[in-house]
Amino acid sequence: MTSEISYSKIEVFSCNKEMKRLSKTVKLFAILTFGCQMNVRDSETIKGILESLGYIETDNPDEADLLLFNTCSVRENPERKVYGRIQQYKEDSGKIIGICGCMVQQGAEFEYIKNELPQVRLVFGTHNIHELPELLEKAEEGQRVLNVWEDKQEIVEGLPAKRDQGVKAFVNISYGCNNFCTYCIVPYTRGREKSRTPENIISEVRELAQNGYKEVTLLGQNVNSYGKDLGLDFAALLEKVHEVEGIERIRFTTSHPKDLSDRLIAAFKNLPKLCEHLHLPVQAGSDRILKKMNRRYTREQYLELVAKLRDAVPGIALTTDIIVGFPGETEEDFLQTLDIVEKVRYDSAFTFIYSPRKGTPAAEMPDQVDEEVKKERIYRLIDLQNRISGEINQEIVGSTVEVLVEGTSKTDPSRLTGKTRSNKTINFPGDVGLIGRTVQVEVTAGKLSSLEGKLKE
Ligand code: SF4
Repeated sequence: MTSEISYSKIEVFSCNKEMKRLSKTVKLFAILTFGCQMNVRDSETIKGILESLGYIETDNPDEADLLLFNTCSVRENPERKVYGRIQQYKEDSGKIIGICGCMVQQGAEFEYIKNELPQVRLVFGTHNIHELPELLEKAEEGQRVLNVWEDKQEIVEGLPAKRDQGVKAFVNISYGCNNFCTYCIVPYTRGREKSRTPENIISEVRELAQNGYKEVTLLGQNVNSYGKDLGLDFAALLEKVHEVEGIERIRFTTSHPKDLSDRLIAAFKNLPKLCEHLHLPVQAGSDRILKKMNRRYTREQYLELVAKLRDAVPGIALTTDIIVGFPGETEEDFLQTLDIVEKVRYDSAFTFIYSPRKGTPAAEMPDQVDEEVKKERIYRLIDLQNRISGEINQEIVGSTVEVLVEGTSKTDPSRLTGKTRSNKTINFPGDVGLIGRTVQVEVTAGKLSSLEGKLKE
Protein backbone atom coordinates (compact mmCIF):
# COMPACT_ATOMS: atom_id res chain seq x y z
CA MET A 1 0.00 0.00 0.00
CA THR A 2 2.81 2.42 0.96
CA SER A 3 4.69 1.78 -2.29
CA GLU A 4 1.53 2.56 -4.26
CA ILE A 5 1.27 5.93 -2.57
CA SER A 6 4.89 6.90 -3.15
CA TYR A 7 4.68 5.66 -6.75
CA SER A 8 1.78 8.00 -7.47
CA LYS A 9 3.67 10.86 -5.79
CA ILE A 10 6.61 10.30 -8.13
CA GLU A 11 4.21 10.32 -11.04
CA VAL A 12 2.69 13.61 -9.93
CA PHE A 13 6.16 15.07 -9.42
CA SER A 14 7.38 14.07 -12.85
CA CYS A 15 4.07 15.13 -14.30
CA ASN A 16 4.60 18.64 -12.84
CA LYS A 17 8.09 18.77 -14.33
CA GLU A 18 6.66 17.66 -17.63
CA MET A 19 3.97 20.34 -17.38
CA LYS A 20 6.59 23.03 -16.82
CA ARG A 21 8.47 21.87 -19.91
CA LEU A 22 5.29 21.70 -21.94
CA SER A 23 4.09 25.07 -20.65
CA LYS A 24 6.56 26.69 -23.03
CA THR A 25 4.49 25.30 -25.89
CA VAL A 26 1.00 24.75 -24.47
CA LYS A 27 -1.23 27.24 -22.73
CA LEU A 28 -1.97 26.91 -19.03
CA PHE A 29 -5.05 28.15 -17.22
CA ALA A 30 -5.94 28.61 -13.56
CA ILE A 31 -9.39 29.31 -12.23
CA LEU A 32 -10.20 30.68 -8.79
CA THR A 33 -13.76 29.92 -7.75
CA PHE A 34 -15.67 31.89 -5.12
CA GLY A 35 -19.14 31.30 -3.70
CA CYS A 36 -21.70 28.52 -3.86
CA GLN A 37 -21.96 25.07 -5.46
CA MET A 38 -23.53 26.63 -8.57
CA ASN A 39 -20.24 28.44 -9.16
CA VAL A 40 -18.25 25.29 -8.45
CA ARG A 41 -20.35 23.52 -11.10
CA ASP A 42 -19.91 26.41 -13.57
CA SER A 43 -16.16 26.22 -13.05
CA GLU A 44 -16.27 22.53 -13.98
CA THR A 45 -17.91 23.50 -17.27
CA ILE A 46 -15.40 26.29 -17.88
CA LYS A 47 -12.52 23.86 -17.21
CA GLY A 48 -14.08 21.35 -19.61
CA ILE A 49 -14.37 23.99 -22.36
CA LEU A 50 -10.80 25.21 -21.82
CA GLU A 51 -9.38 21.69 -21.96
CA SER A 52 -11.32 21.06 -25.18
CA LEU A 53 -9.48 24.12 -26.54
CA GLY A 54 -6.11 22.60 -25.63
CA TYR A 55 -5.50 24.50 -22.39
CA ILE A 56 -4.03 22.60 -19.43
CA GLU A 57 -5.00 23.38 -15.86
CA THR A 58 -2.42 24.53 -13.34
CA ASP A 59 -3.02 25.29 -9.70
CA ASN A 60 -0.35 28.02 -9.80
CA PRO A 61 -2.02 31.29 -10.91
CA ASP A 62 1.37 32.91 -11.52
CA GLU A 63 2.37 30.50 -14.28
CA ALA A 64 -1.07 30.54 -15.96
CA ASP A 65 -1.48 32.15 -19.39
CA LEU A 66 -5.17 32.52 -18.61
CA LEU A 67 -6.21 33.42 -15.07
CA LEU A 68 -9.96 33.37 -14.47
CA PHE A 69 -11.87 34.54 -11.41
CA ASN A 70 -15.30 32.92 -11.13
CA THR A 71 -16.94 35.34 -8.74
CA CYS A 72 -19.74 35.53 -6.18
CA SER A 73 -21.79 38.59 -5.31
CA VAL A 74 -23.82 37.34 -2.36
CA ARG A 75 -21.52 39.12 0.09
CA GLU A 76 -19.14 42.04 -0.13
CA ASN A 77 -16.02 40.30 1.16
CA PRO A 78 -15.38 37.94 -1.77
CA GLU A 79 -15.80 40.89 -4.15
CA ARG A 80 -13.09 42.83 -2.37
CA LYS A 81 -10.85 39.76 -2.37
CA VAL A 82 -11.19 39.41 -6.15
CA TYR A 83 -10.32 43.05 -6.79
CA GLY A 84 -7.40 42.81 -4.37
CA ARG A 85 -6.01 39.77 -6.20
CA ILE A 86 -6.44 41.36 -9.65
CA GLN A 87 -4.70 44.55 -8.61
CA GLN A 88 -1.56 42.47 -8.01
CA TYR A 89 -1.25 42.05 -11.79
CA LYS A 90 -0.10 44.77 -14.14
CA GLU A 91 -1.64 45.45 -17.56
CA ASP A 92 1.46 44.01 -19.21
CA SER A 93 1.57 40.84 -17.07
CA GLY A 94 1.58 38.76 -20.26
CA LYS A 95 -1.44 36.76 -19.20
CA ILE A 96 -5.10 37.03 -20.01
CA ILE A 97 -6.93 37.94 -16.81
CA GLY A 98 -10.63 37.20 -16.92
CA ILE A 99 -13.62 37.64 -14.62
CA CYS A 100 -16.87 35.70 -14.86
CA GLY A 101 -19.67 34.70 -12.52
CA CYS A 102 -22.23 36.70 -10.57
CA MET A 103 -20.22 39.87 -9.92
CA VAL A 104 -20.03 40.86 -13.55
CA GLN A 105 -23.80 40.49 -13.90
CA GLN A 106 -24.19 43.62 -11.76
CA GLY A 107 -24.04 46.82 -13.82
CA ALA A 108 -22.03 48.79 -11.26
CA GLU A 109 -19.36 46.09 -10.93
CA PHE A 110 -19.19 45.66 -14.70
CA GLU A 111 -18.62 49.41 -15.13
CA TYR A 112 -15.96 49.39 -12.40
CA ILE A 113 -14.09 46.53 -14.07
CA LYS A 114 -14.39 48.18 -17.49
CA ASN A 115 -13.13 51.55 -16.31
CA GLU A 116 -10.80 50.84 -13.41
CA LEU A 117 -9.22 47.45 -14.14
CA PRO A 118 -7.57 47.67 -17.57
CA GLN A 119 -5.58 44.50 -16.81
CA VAL A 120 -8.85 42.53 -17.10
CA ARG A 121 -9.08 41.51 -20.74
CA LEU A 122 -11.91 39.00 -20.68
CA VAL A 123 -15.31 39.29 -19.02
CA PHE A 124 -18.26 36.95 -19.52
CA GLY A 125 -21.31 36.28 -17.40
CA THR A 126 -23.32 33.42 -15.97
CA HIS A 127 -25.54 33.20 -19.09
CA ASN A 128 -22.94 33.01 -21.86
CA ILE A 129 -20.36 30.52 -20.60
CA HIS A 130 -20.95 28.54 -23.80
CA GLU A 131 -19.59 31.51 -25.77
CA LEU A 132 -16.20 31.19 -24.07
CA PRO A 133 -14.37 29.69 -27.11
CA GLU A 134 -15.20 32.68 -29.37
CA LEU A 135 -14.62 35.26 -26.64
CA LEU A 136 -11.29 33.72 -25.66
CA GLU A 137 -10.13 33.61 -29.27
CA LYS A 138 -10.65 37.37 -29.52
CA ALA A 139 -8.86 37.93 -26.20
CA GLU A 140 -5.94 35.84 -27.46
CA GLU A 141 -5.78 38.06 -30.54
CA GLY A 142 -5.25 41.03 -28.22
CA GLN A 143 -8.78 42.41 -28.07
CA ARG A 144 -10.36 43.41 -24.76
CA VAL A 145 -13.56 41.36 -24.64
CA LEU A 146 -16.29 42.35 -22.20
CA ASN A 147 -19.46 40.42 -23.05
CA VAL A 148 -22.19 39.78 -20.48
CA TRP A 149 -25.72 38.67 -21.27
CA GLU A 150 -28.55 39.99 -19.11
CA ASP A 151 -30.48 36.75 -19.07
CA LYS A 152 -30.28 33.26 -20.41
CA GLN A 153 -32.38 32.89 -23.55
CA GLU A 154 -32.17 29.12 -23.42
CA ILE A 155 -30.31 26.40 -21.56
CA VAL A 156 -27.31 25.25 -23.56
CA GLU A 157 -26.83 21.51 -23.17
CA GLY A 158 -23.92 19.24 -24.00
CA LEU A 159 -21.09 21.45 -22.75
CA PRO A 160 -18.02 19.54 -21.59
CA ALA A 161 -17.17 19.43 -17.89
CA LYS A 162 -14.03 18.62 -15.95
CA ARG A 163 -15.07 17.19 -12.62
CA ASP A 164 -12.53 16.87 -9.84
CA GLN A 165 -13.01 13.39 -8.50
CA GLY A 166 -14.92 10.27 -9.18
CA VAL A 167 -17.18 9.61 -6.18
CA LYS A 168 -19.75 12.38 -6.11
CA ALA A 169 -20.88 15.04 -8.56
CA PHE A 170 -23.08 18.11 -8.82
CA VAL A 171 -25.82 18.13 -11.45
CA ASN A 172 -27.66 21.35 -12.29
CA ILE A 173 -31.39 20.93 -12.56
CA SER A 174 -32.41 24.58 -12.78
CA TYR A 175 -30.88 28.02 -13.12
CA GLY A 176 -31.95 31.35 -11.65
CA CYS A 177 -34.55 32.24 -9.08
CA ASN A 178 -37.99 33.89 -9.05
CA ASN A 179 -38.25 34.55 -5.35
CA PHE A 180 -36.73 37.97 -4.77
CA CYS A 181 -35.92 37.66 -1.09
CA THR A 182 -35.28 41.30 -0.27
CA TYR A 183 -31.66 40.81 0.82
CA CYS A 184 -30.58 38.68 -2.12
CA ILE A 185 -28.84 39.68 -5.33
CA VAL A 186 -29.16 36.27 -7.02
CA PRO A 187 -32.37 36.88 -9.02
CA TYR A 188 -30.62 39.94 -10.52
CA THR A 189 -27.38 38.12 -11.34
CA ARG A 190 -28.65 34.66 -12.29
CA GLY A 191 -31.97 35.73 -13.83
CA ARG A 192 -35.37 34.05 -13.74
CA GLU A 193 -35.76 30.38 -12.99
CA LYS A 194 -35.34 27.95 -15.88
CA SER A 195 -35.48 24.18 -15.52
CA ARG A 196 -33.50 21.65 -17.49
CA THR A 197 -35.60 18.90 -19.04
CA PRO A 198 -35.73 15.60 -17.13
CA GLU A 199 -34.29 13.85 -20.21
CA ASN A 200 -31.13 15.98 -20.16
CA ILE A 201 -30.76 15.62 -16.39
CA ILE A 202 -31.22 11.84 -16.44
CA SER A 203 -28.82 11.43 -19.33
CA GLU A 204 -26.14 13.36 -17.38
CA VAL A 205 -26.78 11.28 -14.25
CA ARG A 206 -26.54 8.05 -16.30
CA GLU A 207 -23.24 9.16 -17.77
CA LEU A 208 -21.93 9.93 -14.28
CA ALA A 209 -22.98 6.48 -13.09
CA GLN A 210 -21.23 4.89 -16.08
CA ASN A 211 -18.09 6.80 -15.12
CA GLY A 212 -18.19 5.39 -11.61
CA TYR A 213 -19.81 8.24 -9.67
CA LYS A 214 -21.86 6.98 -6.73
CA GLU A 215 -23.57 10.11 -5.47
CA VAL A 216 -25.27 13.04 -7.18
CA THR A 217 -26.33 16.35 -5.67
CA LEU A 218 -29.05 18.04 -7.69
CA LEU A 219 -28.43 21.76 -7.77
CA GLY A 220 -30.60 24.80 -8.16
CA GLN A 221 -31.23 28.08 -6.38
CA ASN A 222 -34.60 26.66 -5.36
CA VAL A 223 -34.79 23.00 -6.33
CA ASN A 224 -38.23 22.61 -4.74
CA SER A 225 -39.80 24.70 -7.47
CA TYR A 226 -38.03 22.68 -10.18
CA GLY A 227 -40.19 22.09 -13.25
CA LYS A 228 -42.88 24.72 -12.62
CA ASP A 229 -41.93 26.32 -15.96
CA LEU A 230 -42.26 22.90 -17.67
CA GLY A 231 -45.41 21.75 -15.87
CA LEU A 232 -43.35 19.19 -13.92
CA ASP A 233 -42.65 18.41 -10.29
CA PHE A 234 -39.39 18.04 -8.37
CA ALA A 235 -40.46 14.92 -6.48
CA ALA A 236 -41.24 13.26 -9.84
CA LEU A 237 -37.73 14.12 -11.04
CA LEU A 238 -36.25 12.57 -7.91
CA GLU A 239 -38.15 9.37 -8.63
CA LYS A 240 -36.60 9.26 -12.12
CA VAL A 241 -33.07 9.95 -10.83
CA HIS A 242 -33.64 7.21 -8.27
CA GLU A 243 -34.06 4.68 -11.09
CA VAL A 244 -30.55 5.28 -12.48
CA GLU A 245 -28.49 2.17 -11.86
CA GLY A 246 -25.10 2.68 -10.24
CA ILE A 247 -26.10 5.84 -8.37
CA GLU A 248 -26.29 4.93 -4.69
CA ARG A 249 -27.01 8.26 -3.07
CA ILE A 250 -29.03 11.32 -4.02
CA ARG A 251 -28.94 14.74 -2.37
CA PHE A 252 -30.26 18.14 -3.41
CA THR A 253 -29.78 21.78 -2.53
CA THR A 254 -31.08 24.44 -2.00
CA SER A 255 -34.66 24.07 -0.79
CA HIS A 256 -37.08 26.91 -0.19
CA PRO A 257 -39.47 26.08 2.67
CA LYS A 258 -42.46 27.61 0.88
CA ASP A 259 -42.14 25.05 -1.93
CA LEU A 260 -41.47 21.95 0.19
CA SER A 261 -44.39 19.73 -0.86
CA ASP A 262 -45.89 16.72 0.93
CA ARG A 263 -44.85 14.62 -2.07
CA LEU A 264 -41.26 15.69 -1.57
CA ILE A 265 -41.42 14.91 2.15
CA ALA A 266 -42.83 11.48 1.24
CA ALA A 267 -39.90 10.96 -1.16
CA PHE A 268 -37.54 10.90 1.83
CA LYS A 269 -39.50 7.93 3.12
CA ASN A 270 -40.05 6.17 -0.20
CA LEU A 271 -36.75 6.58 -2.06
CA PRO A 272 -33.99 4.65 -0.28
CA LYS A 273 -31.23 6.39 -2.24
CA LEU A 274 -32.36 9.82 -1.07
CA CYS A 275 -30.12 10.63 1.90
CA GLU A 276 -31.72 11.63 5.18
CA HIS A 277 -30.48 15.19 5.21
CA LEU A 278 -32.21 18.40 4.23
CA HIS A 279 -30.73 21.87 4.07
CA LEU A 280 -33.74 24.08 4.75
CA PRO A 281 -32.77 27.75 5.11
CA VAL A 282 -34.90 29.44 7.78
CA GLN A 283 -33.04 32.80 7.65
CA ALA A 284 -34.88 34.23 10.70
CA GLY A 285 -37.21 33.11 13.48
CA SER A 286 -39.40 36.19 13.71
CA ASP A 287 -42.51 36.53 11.53
CA ARG A 288 -41.97 40.27 11.30
CA ILE A 289 -38.46 39.81 9.87
CA LEU A 290 -39.47 36.88 7.63
CA LYS A 291 -42.10 39.17 6.10
CA LYS A 292 -39.57 41.96 5.56
CA MET A 293 -37.28 39.39 3.93
CA ASN A 294 -40.16 38.35 1.61
CA ARG A 295 -39.65 34.71 2.57
CA ARG A 296 -43.37 33.90 2.29
CA TYR A 297 -43.66 31.52 5.24
CA THR A 298 -44.20 32.05 8.95
CA ARG A 299 -42.26 30.46 11.80
CA GLU A 300 -45.30 28.26 12.53
CA GLN A 301 -45.42 27.03 8.94
CA TYR A 302 -41.69 26.33 9.05
CA LEU A 303 -42.03 24.41 12.33
CA GLU A 304 -44.92 22.42 10.84
CA LEU A 305 -42.68 21.39 7.93
CA VAL A 306 -40.00 20.28 10.37
CA ALA A 307 -42.58 18.23 12.30
CA LYS A 308 -43.80 16.58 9.07
CA LEU A 309 -40.24 15.77 7.99
CA ARG A 310 -39.39 14.24 11.36
CA ASP A 311 -42.65 12.33 11.34
CA ALA A 312 -41.81 10.89 7.89
CA VAL A 313 -38.12 10.26 8.63
CA PRO A 314 -37.26 10.17 12.33
CA GLY A 315 -33.65 11.25 12.76
CA ILE A 316 -33.43 13.21 9.48
CA ALA A 317 -30.55 15.69 9.73
CA LEU A 318 -31.54 19.31 9.24
CA THR A 319 -29.18 22.15 8.45
CA THR A 320 -29.95 25.78 7.73
CA ASP A 321 -28.87 29.31 6.86
CA ILE A 322 -29.51 32.18 9.27
CA ILE A 323 -29.02 35.91 8.75
CA VAL A 324 -28.43 38.04 11.82
CA GLY A 325 -28.98 41.80 11.93
CA PHE A 326 -31.44 42.18 9.06
CA PRO A 327 -32.70 45.81 8.90
CA GLY A 328 -35.12 46.51 11.75
CA GLU A 329 -34.22 43.34 13.68
CA THR A 330 -34.89 44.03 17.37
CA GLU A 331 -33.64 42.06 20.36
CA GLU A 332 -37.12 40.53 20.53
CA ASP A 333 -36.88 39.38 16.87
CA PHE A 334 -33.45 37.94 17.50
CA LEU A 335 -34.69 36.01 20.53
CA GLN A 336 -37.26 34.44 18.19
CA THR A 337 -34.38 33.27 15.98
CA LEU A 338 -32.61 31.72 18.97
CA ASP A 339 -35.90 30.11 19.94
CA ILE A 340 -36.45 28.47 16.54
CA VAL A 341 -32.86 27.16 16.62
CA GLU A 342 -33.58 25.61 20.05
CA LYS A 343 -36.84 24.14 18.80
CA VAL A 344 -35.55 22.64 15.54
CA ARG A 345 -32.14 21.58 16.87
CA TYR A 346 -30.26 21.84 13.57
CA ASP A 347 -27.32 19.56 13.00
CA SER A 348 -25.41 22.60 11.79
CA ALA A 349 -26.06 26.09 10.48
CA PHE A 350 -24.39 28.60 8.20
CA THR A 351 -24.72 31.87 10.07
CA PHE A 352 -24.22 35.25 8.42
CA ILE A 353 -24.14 38.85 9.49
CA TYR A 354 -26.47 40.80 7.20
CA SER A 355 -24.53 42.92 4.73
CA PRO A 356 -26.44 45.23 2.37
CA ARG A 357 -26.16 44.43 -1.34
CA LYS A 358 -26.62 47.40 -3.63
CA GLY A 359 -29.67 46.99 -5.84
CA THR A 360 -31.66 44.91 -3.36
CA PRO A 361 -34.71 46.33 -1.48
CA ALA A 362 -33.22 45.54 1.94
CA ALA A 363 -30.20 47.76 1.28
CA GLU A 364 -32.60 50.74 1.12
CA MET A 365 -34.54 49.81 4.26
CA PRO A 366 -34.36 52.15 7.26
CA ASP A 367 -33.20 50.92 10.67
CA GLN A 368 -30.00 49.20 9.55
CA VAL A 369 -28.66 47.41 12.62
CA ASP A 370 -25.50 48.65 14.31
CA GLU A 371 -22.44 46.53 13.42
CA GLU A 372 -21.54 45.92 17.08
CA VAL A 373 -25.06 44.69 17.82
CA LYS A 374 -24.89 42.35 14.80
CA LYS A 375 -21.58 40.92 16.02
CA GLU A 376 -22.81 40.42 19.57
CA ARG A 377 -25.90 38.61 18.23
CA ILE A 378 -24.00 36.34 15.87
CA TYR A 379 -21.69 35.23 18.70
CA ARG A 380 -24.72 34.29 20.81
CA LEU A 381 -26.22 32.39 17.87
CA ILE A 382 -22.97 30.56 17.11
CA ASP A 383 -22.58 29.61 20.79
CA LEU A 384 -26.06 28.13 20.82
CA GLN A 385 -25.66 26.27 17.51
CA ASN A 386 -22.25 24.91 18.56
CA ARG A 387 -23.74 23.54 21.76
CA ILE A 388 -26.55 21.83 19.82
CA SER A 389 -24.23 20.47 17.07
CA GLY A 390 -21.88 19.09 19.74
CA GLU A 391 -24.75 17.44 21.59
CA ILE A 392 -26.16 15.83 18.42
CA ASN A 393 -22.74 14.50 17.40
CA GLN A 394 -22.24 13.08 20.90
CA GLU A 395 -25.62 11.35 20.80
CA ILE A 396 -24.59 9.20 17.82
CA VAL A 397 -21.36 7.92 19.39
CA GLY A 398 -21.59 4.13 19.57
CA SER A 399 -24.00 3.82 16.63
CA THR A 400 -23.10 2.37 13.23
CA VAL A 401 -23.47 4.59 10.17
CA GLU A 402 -23.27 4.02 6.42
CA VAL A 403 -20.36 5.93 4.90
CA LEU A 404 -19.48 6.62 1.28
CA VAL A 405 -15.67 6.77 1.30
CA GLU A 406 -14.49 9.87 -0.59
CA GLY A 407 -10.73 9.82 -0.12
CA THR A 408 -8.01 10.20 2.45
CA SER A 409 -8.25 12.71 5.29
CA LYS A 410 -6.70 16.11 4.48
CA THR A 411 -5.01 16.32 7.87
CA ASP A 412 -3.96 12.67 8.13
CA PRO A 413 -3.45 10.80 4.82
CA SER A 414 -3.28 7.49 6.68
CA ARG A 415 -6.99 7.83 7.48
CA LEU A 416 -10.00 7.71 5.20
CA THR A 417 -12.73 10.33 5.03
CA GLY A 418 -16.30 10.11 3.89
CA LYS A 419 -19.82 11.30 4.52
CA THR A 420 -22.61 9.69 6.45
CA ARG A 421 -26.07 9.68 4.89
CA SER A 422 -26.82 12.63 7.20
CA ASN A 423 -23.97 14.50 5.44
CA LYS A 424 -21.56 14.48 8.38
CA THR A 425 -17.86 14.11 7.73
CA ILE A 426 -16.36 11.03 9.39
CA ASN A 427 -12.69 10.02 9.51
CA PHE A 428 -11.45 6.52 10.26
CA PRO A 429 -8.47 4.22 9.63
CA GLY A 430 -8.82 2.10 6.50
CA ASP A 431 -7.35 0.93 3.22
CA VAL A 432 -7.34 3.34 0.24
CA GLY A 433 -8.90 0.51 -1.77
CA LEU A 434 -12.16 1.41 -0.02
CA ILE A 435 -12.36 4.81 -1.74
CA GLY A 436 -15.58 4.96 -3.73
CA ARG A 437 -17.17 2.19 -1.69
CA THR A 438 -19.97 2.28 0.86
CA VAL A 439 -18.95 0.87 4.24
CA GLN A 440 -20.35 0.52 7.75
CA VAL A 441 -18.49 2.55 10.36
CA GLU A 442 -18.95 2.68 14.12
CA VAL A 443 -18.87 6.23 15.46
CA THR A 444 -16.24 6.43 18.21
CA ALA A 445 -16.15 10.18 18.85
CA GLY A 446 -18.32 13.18 18.02
CA LYS A 447 -16.61 16.52 17.50
CA LEU A 448 -18.21 19.84 16.69
CA SER A 449 -18.07 19.53 12.91
CA SER A 450 -16.97 15.95 12.27
CA LEU A 451 -16.99 12.42 13.61
CA GLU A 452 -14.32 9.81 14.27
CA GLY A 453 -14.99 6.15 13.67
CA LYS A 454 -13.73 2.63 13.09
CA LEU A 455 -14.67 0.23 10.32
CA LYS A 456 -17.09 -2.51 11.24
CA GLU A 457 -15.80 -5.97 10.40
S1 SF4 B 1 -34.68 31.88 -2.79
FE1 SF4 B 1 -34.26 33.93 -1.98
S2 SF4 B 1 -32.22 33.68 -1.03
FE2 SF4 B 1 -32.47 31.93 -2.42
S3 SF4 B 1 -31.56 32.59 -4.36
FE3 SF4 B 1 -33.75 33.06 -4.49
S4 SF4 B 1 -33.91 35.19 -3.81
FE4 SF4 B 1 -31.90 34.44 -3.14
